[in-house]
Amino acid sequence: SKARILEQGTETRVTFKDVAGLEEAKEEIYELVKFLKDPEKFERLGAKIPKGILLLGPPGTGKTLLAKAVAGEAGVPFFSLSGSEFIEMFVGVGAARVRDLFSKAKLRAPSIIFIDEIDTIGRARGSSTIFQSNDERESTLNQLLAELDGFDTNTRVIILAATNRGDILDPALLRPGRFDRHIQLELPNLTERKAIFKVHMKPLKLGPDVNEELLAAQTPGFSGADIANICNEAALIAAQREKEAIHRQDFMDAIDRVIGGLEKRSKIIT
Ligand code: ATP
Repeated sequence: SKARILEQGTETRVTFKDVAGLEEAKEEIYELVKFLKDPEKFERLGAKIPKGILLLGPPGTGKTLLAKAVAGEAGVPFFSLSGSEFIEMFVGVGAARVRDLFSKAKLRAPSIIFIDEIDTIGRARGSSTIFQSNDERESTLNQLLAELDGFDTNTRVIILAATNRGDILDPALLRPGRFDRHIQLELPNLTERKAIFKVHMKPLKLGPDVNEELLAAQTPGFSGADIANICNEAALIAAQREKEAIHRQDFMDAIDRVIGGLEKRSKIIT
């Protein structure tokens, strides 16, 4: 897991245009955008909007990006928190952080709270943990559950959480009224990889021998994050080579480099 800057009410410029592929997920989540833009319309009809939505999917498939895009599309502030921030905290600190974040988000409602790596806090009891103290993890989780239960949709705060380990979550988190809606993201297929390449190639100066079809065909099994990485590596390689534009060979070498990185990563894990 990577270190991320804690965001507290940032206005994000990310929109659905930045999220390539994931058409079904975008469609599903669009309801939230409509709600955040005009909560009264829903409330007048007595419609109940889900408060907790769980984004499931492998690393780098755009869970964070999608959550930010919801905030960006709706024009509401984005608050975030990562499960890994709570590791090695003293008992009580995690719970205080959760409480503080929720109260800030409520003050600026309508707003979004995004909890990345929720499995770190929300592991089923008894499963192995990287927390120093299990008490701390549990007190953080209990605070989160209390916050979820403590407000209704009139609060106009929507909580999105992400994990790639939906299988190990504490069932308490998944009960009705908590994270009872799930959106599954998958690794991109050929067409989706093409679309993701297109987004990330847009700001680049490309040679005439590169196009997104070619690159999408070369990258089965790669995530959106890998593709973003390849595009950046290709630009760096071309710059090193003092080129005027990024050519096919630069991309091929970038793909090798990213594959090398992925292999190293999986060796560390296994
Ligand atoms: P993790 O599980 O590792 O936290 P994640 O699913 O939250 O990953 P993101 O952080 O959203 O993944 O993706 C990382 C980066 O990869 C994004 O900032 C973006 O540049 C790129 N990316 C991922 N998916 C997409 C996509 N569908 N379209 C465009 N870019 C993408």
